[in-house]
Amino acid sequence: MPFKPMAFASRSLAARSNEIAILSPSDKDGRTISTRRAWLLVVRRACLVVLGALAWVSSTVAEPPADSPKTLQIYFIDVEGGQATLFVTPEHQSLLIDTGWPGNNGRDADRIVAAAHDAGISKIDYVLITHYHDDHVGGAPQLAERIPIGTFVDHGENHEPNGNFSQKVFAAYQQLLATGKYQHIVAKPGDVLPIKGIRAEVISSDGNLIPAPLPGAGQPNSFCANSPVPPPDNTENQRSLGTLNTFGKLRILDLGDLTADKERELMCPSNRLGKIDIYIASHHGHFQSGSASLVHAIAPRIAIVDNGAKKGGSPSALEVIKSAPKLEAMWQLHFSDEAGSARNAVPEFIANPEGPDVANRLRLTANPDGSFTVLNSRTKRSKPYPATP
Ligand SMILES: [Zn+2]
Repeated sequence: MPFKPMAFASRSLAARSNEIAILSPSDKDGRTISTRRAWLLVVRRACLVVLGALAWVSSTVAEPPADSPKTLQIYFIDVEGGQATLFVTPEHQSLLIDTGWPGNNGRDADRIVAAAHDAGISKIDYVLITHYHDDHVGGAPQLAERIPIGTFVDHGENHEPNGNFSQKVFAAYQQLLATGKYQHIVAKPGDVLPIKGIRAEVISSDGNLIPAPLPGAGQPNSFCANSPVPPPDNTENQRSLGTLNTFGKLRILDLGDLTADKERELMCPSNRLGKIDIYIASHHGHFQSGSASLVHAIAPRIAIVDNGAKKGGSPSALEVIKSAPKLEAMWQLHFSDEAGSARNAVPEFIANPEGPDVANRLRLTANPDGSFTVLNSRTKRSKPYPATP
């Protein structure tokens, strides 16, 4: 009920105005004036205060319609600590980054389809699989049963050792590709995906990174000196297919579960990415990723953490995000039990607080001028972020 606060403010002001009219029918110099003029003054004062109240309300609850022209919609779908991020461009093309978990009677696939329907699409054009872990590729077969898919995009072979838990979900994904129903792109750093409406450029894939800074980037990274050198990761995480998604002036970074060793390679000694507006927190805000040499150097305006109650949202990773130089807000899909109230975001910025889980999501609406809003489906309130110069 976005207009409730405004209605309340109007009523209380009207009540106050009546009191003024009854008690003191005088002008600002204290002279007695006619009843008609007194009423005019009261109405004028009430209008001014209502306008003020309107300005306050619009700064906290302005919610653009989902089908606004020329906006990019990004749905951060709650898949309980996995990833499922749906981009819908003004041309109604769609890119889904990861498919959540397998099992649970298709719970995560159902949640993705619900978001797609909310966005007014009945097909997903591109499904990008960042890497072959359960919480990213696991839901792909169930999703394919529920909604048409055009193209799968991934990093190629699974190099995790036999016996690792990625083998089963990788095999199920390969079966899906083997049906021949889908187009398939194996993406390399520097590739630009063929989706219309955003520029989705591959930053990392299969352990490889863009070899040189992006245009305008390449500045020395002062945050490298105080960042510890992380241990090498040998899992699928460090092979994550990461993208920089540009829409008008807005730059949105998603590196999947890319680990801190690769972050250091990408960001030290010079920052190959430049500044970012929206950082989709790597690895669900888990401590193996999201080092200061990445997060502080890209200096995001906001971060969105797709953590679960008990997965991701590590205290140290949330601390790094919150201390990023230009951060305006950190949003989370869940309250993180491990982080406690001191390190979690404030409740308005959390889609699913402690307690029963009803799979609330976050929706970001972006404009080409760089302004955007973030809607919390739980509170039905959205926060606007104006364009920066
Ligand atoms: Zn993950």
